[in-house]
Parts: sequence; structure tokens; C-alpha cells
Amino acid sequence: MIQIVDKSFETFLSAEKIQEEIQLVANRINSDYAGKEVVFIAVLNGSFMFASDLFKRITLDCEISFVKVSSYKGSTASSGRVDELIGLNTNIEGKNVIILEDIVDTGITIDKIFTLLRAHQPTSVQIATLLYKPDAFKGKNAPHYVGFLIPNFFVVGFGLDYNERGRNLDAIYKLKGDVPTQNTMLNLVLFGPPGAGKGTQSERLIEKYGLVHLSTGDIFRYNIKNDTELGK
Ligand code: IMP
Ligand code: MG
Repeated sequence: MIQIVDKSFETFLSAEKIQEEIQLVANRINSDYAGKEVVFIAVLNGSFMFASDLFKRITLDCEISFVKVSSYKGSTASSGRVDELIGLNTNIEGKNVIILEDIVDTGITIDKIFTLLRAHQPTSVQIATLLYKPDAFKGKNAPHYVGFLIPNFFVVGFGLDYNERGRNLDAIYKLKGDVPTQNTMLNLVLFGPPGAGKGTQSERLIEKYGLVHLSTGDIFRYNIKNDTELGK
């Protein structure tokens, strides 16, 4: 357990686990973009550690740029707040872009960045994030590459802060006693004809995300085989 400012945090994801997962994300990107040029756009401040550890493992022809999103009061008073992308010092027109985020929570930040980047006419834009809180997500652009799906916990470390502290930690910690505020159930439904590999895919998902697996196919087969009431 560690103390940051006035709060206690407990270990949630070890440094080793984070590094292993970053390697898996890098492998996926390296294979998905094989033979292509990629521009990574890391969103400051939180993503600097993820960006650094991921970028080292990218074997593609690639560039990286670090941006911040700021929201300011537009000069035409009626327009309200205007979002601006600061620090994009590379031309992304016609390029394959991958946005790097530390965490996607409500998805508001990533939606803004997506819109601002689209204006520069890249060929494609995908989002890679170390952490994703699907229960908090209300956005339009869900991340494509995810290190860890996590419940609605407040977390610090590995670039993420609590009151600007804790970014230097090499592991990720969750607020002690923090319980998910919403339903943490995530239903994944795999479609496909018999033999398509639904079972294999679900095994991988179960292992990767520590899920509970309930296959209606398995239930029916079990009940038919054992000639239960349901199976008759
Ligand atoms: P959004 O809600 O997806 O727009 O996330 C906005 C920002 O909130 C993220 O980029 C993080 O900087 C911050 N954030 C969201 N959840 C956490 C958390 O659990 N710990 C630390 N920062 C967080
Ligand atoms: Mg951030």
C-alpha cells in the first residue's frame, strides 16, 4: 500500500504485467500495420510512459509526436469553448495515425482529439490505450488497441496522476477501497457458424481479461449428453 497526498492506494497492475501487456499491444500493431508507415500521436501528460515503452517495441517505419488538447474561450464570444490541438508538428495528411492514450475513461478527450485530427485528413486513425474503463465510456470512438480493460476504479502510476503526483510509479495502483460505481458486467457475444472458432476466441478472451465464461452451446451439449430435463 502507498500514500499519495491524502489518499491510500493499493497495487493493481504490477510493473511486469504492464510491460508484458505493452509487448502484446506492440505485437498487434506491428502485425496490423506491416509494410505501412505509422505516425503515433501521444496525448500528454499521462501517456508519456506508455508511449515510450510501446514505441521502443515498434518495428515499423514510424514517427511520434506529442500533443495536448486545450480548451479556450473562442474569440467570437457566442461560440463558447473551442478545442485546440497543441504540438502537432508533423504532417499527417494521407498518413496512418495511432493515438496513444494512458486511459480512456468517459471518452470525451479522445473524441475531441479524433475530431481535431480528422481535420488534417489522415488516411486512418486508431486509438491505442493502456487502460480502458468501458463502464465509464460514453464516447463515439472506442479504443481499438487496449492494454487492460478495468472497472471504474480511480488509478495512479505509470504516467497517471492523483493531483499531479504518482506519475513516476512503475506499477499502477488503485484507490484503496474503491469499488466500481457501475455494473461491471460486460457481455461479449461471438457470432459464427459451427467450427468458426468461437470457442477458441472465447478461451483467449477469458484468459486475457479473467472473464467468466458461459456458453449456451456448452450448456446445451452438456444437458443433451446427460439427458437432463433441459436436454430432452
Ligand atoms: P476521459 O474521461 O476519457 O476524457 O479522460 C480524461 C482524462 O482523465 C484522462 O486522459 C486522464 O488524464 C484522466 N483520468 C481518467 N481516469 C483516471 C484515473 O483513474 N486516474 C487518473 N487519471 C484519470
Ligand atoms: Mg490523459
